[in-house]
Amino acid sequence: MSASDPSKLTEAYHGNCHCGAFRFHVVLPVLSMVPLTSCKCSICHRKGYLRVYPQSKNLVVERDELGLASYQFGDGMVRHKFCPRCGTGVMDTVAESIGCPDIGINVRAFVDVDIWSLKIREVKGRADTNPYQPPGFSGTLPKASDPNLKLYTGSCHCGAVTLAVRTRPLPEINILEDNCSICQRNAYTILELPPDQVSIIGTENTTSYEFGTKFQEHHFCSTCGVSVYIRVKEEIDDGFETWPEERKQKVRENQGKVPINIRVLNDVEWEQLKIERIDENEGYSVG
Ligand SMILES: [Zn+2]
Ligand SMILES: [Zn+2]
Repeated sequence: MSASDPSKLTEAYHGNCHCGAFRFHVVLPVLSMVPLTSCKCSICHRKGYLRVYPQSKNLVVERDELGLASYQFGDGMVRHKFCPRCGTGVMDTVAESIGCPDIGINVRAFVDVDIWSLKIREVKGRADTNPYQPPGFSGTLPKASDPNLKLYTGSCHCGAVTLAVRTRPLPEINILEDNCSICQRNAYTILELPPDQVSIIGTENTTSYEFGTKFQEHHFCSTCGVSVYIRVKEEIDDGFETWPEERKQKVRENQGKVPINIRVLNDVEWEQLKIERIDENEGYSVG
């Protein structure tokens, strides 16, 4: 647990991937004092990384049950590391020869940190020097044919999962972000659509992660770790009737919809979006 003392210059922060297979602590300048880096390159945008750069001697890995998966692309100098079970992008490491800090930690994985209160510094990112070509979508387009709907296509970073959605133009609708444990860690910016407005190719290339009440499967690309969509189950477990009414209501509303992470879509009008942030503290802890 991180104690907050305004007179301190550094702080020990604890963090973990969502499932807890990877846990660490790291000593850093107090986060409220330094801007975090939000890089707009193709991989960082999809993963929603909010980075800090500790000295590697200040990072202590407490548990690494599974070994982090590693994704590289382009010149392969950066290793983007994520939990192979839950998909949380925990850190990246770079080859010393390129002269950058050798480790970046994703603050989204920190425990007891309100990421919405932190200062964010946006940067264009090294990957923009090698322009990224998003993989094309070659599947069947969504069935919905309402002429008021706009077609967006997208993909995980490596292209193993591609998708097309038809929706009202995104600036016209409410987009949701919340700070629950999984949405914060896996950087969901969610759009919920009826199934006939969504077409996804490569679902077999995803890893599905469930937790808690297990009524949702969180699907991320097994190769690059990008969170793409959620499958809301039709079947609900036996304990459903004992859940809090608010929770039950939310589940009922979600059933029959396909939540998509719009970070994976191309040509999103980000500057024009109305993103509603929902403060959701569900008392998460990996114990
Ligand atoms: Zn995990
Ligand atoms: Zn991928």
